This record gives sequence, C-alpha cells and structure tokens, in this order.
Amino acid sequence: MSTPGSYSNDRAAWLKGPGHRCSEAPAGAKRVWRLVLLGPPGVGKGTQAQLLCDELGACHLSTGDVFRAARSMEMDKASPAMVTAIECMVGGKLVPDLTVVNLVKERAKCLRCVGGFLLDGFPRTAAQAGSLEEILQSQGVTLNAALYFELPLEQLRTRLSGRRTCGRCKAVYHVASRASAVAGVCDTCGGDLVQREDDREEAIEKRMVAYNLTMEPLLTFYAERKLLMRISAAGSPDQVFTRVKVALGLPIHE
Ligand code: AMP
Repeated sequence: MSTPGSYSNDRAAWLKGPGHRCSEAPAGAKRVWRLVLLGPPGVGKGTQAQLLCDELGACHLSTGDVFRAARSMEMDKASPAMVTAIECMVGGKLVPDLTVVNLVKERAKCLRCVGGFLLDGFPRTAAQAGSLEEILQSQGVTLNAALYFELPLEQLRTRLSGRRTCGRCKAVYHVASRASAVAGVCDTCGGDLVQREDDREEAIEKRMVAYNLTMEPLLTFYAERKLLMRISAAGSPDQVFTRVKVALGLPIHE
C-alpha cells in the first residue's frame, strides 16, 4: 500500500484505455476498497479521492479525466463517440449514458485491480449505476460503499470558481482554501495549474442543472442497496476526510 502522500499511479490503463498498462501497478492492499464517490461539481470529491488514494492505495478512476485526457490528444485520433463526448464536456453537458458506459466497459479490468478503486464522476445517472452493477458482476467484484458528499449551493459555486487543477498530474487546488506554494505551479510535480473549461461561469450553471436532474434517482439506487453513506462536505478537506474515515471505519491518525 502507498504511504500517505506518496500516491503516484499514472492510471494509464484507465486514462488511455485498452492496450495501455499502468507504469506502476499498485501493491496488493490488505483490504481492497471499491468505492463510488458521489456529489455535485465543486463539492471536493477530487480532493477527498486524492486523500483516500493515499490512505488506501486504491486507484482514482475519474471519467471526466478520461475525457480531458482524450481532449489533449490530437482530435483526428479520437473515435467519433469520443469527439461527441468531448463536445458535450466542453459545452457543460452530460455525455450520453451509452458513450460513458462503453468507455467504462472498455476499462473493466481497472475495476478488478488488486489495489481497488475509487470511481469519481461515474455513475452520474441511475441508468449508469445499473450498468456499473452489471459490469462489476461480470468482473466478479462488489462495491463497498457509495459516498455522497453534500454541500449548500452557494458554497459550491465559490469552490468551483476558485478550483485549479494540475495539467500534468491532475492534483486539485483552490486559490483560497488549498493554494499551491507557488501560484500557478503544482506542489507535487511542478506542472502548470489551470482552470478547467467546465469550471468557468457559463458551464457551471449548466452542470448544476444537469446534476440536480439526475442525482436523486442515483441516491435512491444506492440507498436501496444499503450502500449509500452521506458525508457533510462542509469545512476543511481534513475535517471532511475525518468524517469519511469514521464512516468507513478506518483508523484516525492524529
Ligand atoms: P467531472 O470531472 O466528473 O466533473 O466531469 C467533467 C465533464 O465530463 C462533465 O461535465 C461531463 O460533461 C463529462 N462526464 C464525466 N463523467 C460523466 C458521466 N459519468 N456521465 C456523463 N458525462 C460525464
């Protein structure tokens, strides 16, 4: 298992798809965690995912990262479905369920990785959740929990507009609450910190509307399966992480 702060898996198999291998396979953890992270844009899922990865040694699998990675490739190498997906993302719309589900199916091996996984940004609809359940069954694995991070709308807007992401290693910062040591430069890898296109004002409103329409059925889906854990995302990342650890029954380090 990685020691806290040392997590460095490049997630090549997830980000680039079938035919690619991660440069560093995670060591088999004592307890393998398979978690879904749910919550509105800006709630701090990415930050909690990073902290959980360090703690558990599990891979952070974000569908948004797959689309952003595809976007940074030459467009003529992307499949027609991926081109449509990228257009949806840039316009702040949800990518069609079928496209996202096919993309996850292509990467199904990542779901039975010995290190476990934290799915972030998928599923986003009840239909995607149903498909994920089938994919997991086909891989012979089950989810431990779906963590739902909650926060009032105004606080969400503030968090989103200040968010900056490392273009290279995808580490997440915030200009006010989680600033890098040198403005615009990633503490971990020295990459440039950028504002995601979908974190700009126009895209934020559209994402919120899409989010509200689809989240309730998704929460019901996991509540019915007794997998849903609601976590307040108020306060500092460390405070939220302590709540996560309590909910999962993990040891709290002082
Ligand atoms: P995220 O980084 O999870 O906020 O995702 C960024 C964007 O990628 C979203 O606003 C959507 O356009 C697209 N996206 C990522 N995951 C999904 C998904 N599971 N379903 C539909 N669209 C998605």
